[in-house]
Amino acid sequence: WAKAEGRGRWAVYDPERSARDSARSALAAGLPAALDRSEFVLHYQPIVSLLDGRMTAVEALVRWQHPELGLIGPDRFIGLAEETGLIVRLGEWVLRQACQDAQRWHAEFPAARLVVSVNVAARQADAPAIVDTVADALASTGLPAELLQLELTESAVMGSAGEPLRTLHRLAALGVRLAVDDFGTGYSNLAYLRRLPITCLKLAGPFVEGIRDNEPDDADHRDERIVDALVRLAHALELWVTAEAVETEAQAERLRALRCDTAQGRLFGPPGPPQEIVTRLRGPM
Ligand code: C2E
Ligand code: MG
Ligand code: MG
Ligand code: MG
Repeated sequence: WAKAEGRGRWAVYDPERSARDSARSALAAGLPAALDRSEFVLHYQPIVSLLDGRMTAVEALVRWQHPELGLIGPDRFIGLAEETGLIVRLGEWVLRQACQDAQRWHAEFPAARLVVSVNVAARQADAPAIVDTVADALASTGLPAELLQLELTESAVMGSAGEPLRTLHRLAALGVRLAVDDFGTGYSNLAYLRRLPITCLKLAGPFVEGIRDNEPDDADHRDERIVDALVRLAHALELWVTAEAVETEAQAERLRALRCDTAQGRLFGPPGPPQEIVTRLRGPM
């Protein structure tokens, strides 16, 4: 058959696309039951200081332990969860689980002052209920607010005026930290940036990827100069800067020279189950 795509537009039947779409809908249909059956798990990736290598934070990254398909990454289901609205319940689960894990680590290793950083989808951040959700997660787990960081995307925070901006201020008033995730990949309104109650910018992977040594098509070090400018901008606004997707020692070296504060990526450890964080907190850091 042919399927209507918007008003008066018809698409030709495409078996490949149709198979992809039905796999997508099957995955989407399975999301609510997966939440009820506790099939989601959190992995954590270390965020380390570029000054002394100390692990200062961990980012919580959700995965779906699917009974037939195995471990599924968030890029395959977060978008679906946003479209279906399930992201609100899934996000609540992520927040509570991350706060619970972080509180356990904090109880056992108080000197580490380990911060847990949780991704918040635009659709979650938009709803004023997010403030109660965060307050509840902190109260029910006992995690000190300053050990929780929320990562919001540029599009989630930049468009915010009026009510959403008040929501950000109410979140900040709880004492949690707010970070802008994937900074530099969306549309940032710099005049607006300075009015936001944020504490950290996370530099998107592609910029970091571009600063490897001897890159033939980047003889003039353009990506490196962009990172330099973004770090200076962040520091001028008294914000911390975290670099994402750091894979090589050469990149870490350049980021250190550019005064980037913290970093995460395969070089410092991939995302892994909570037990790996405990091992790291126990062992010599
Ligand atoms: P993100 O927040 O930008 O997370 C960083 C992504 O970079 C993670 O992908 C991580 O596994 C990946 N990464 C880690 N080290 C390296 C490296 O050395 N090189 C490269 N190229 N990548 C690295 P992941 O786990 O697949 O998550 C993808 C995205 O899904 C996240 O991007 C985030 O936007 C979203 N996400 C993950 N968990 C949640 C969640 O609980 N809630 C919401 N709303 N979104 C989430
Ligand atoms: Mg993130
Ligand atoms: Mg990111
Ligand atoms: Mg990303």
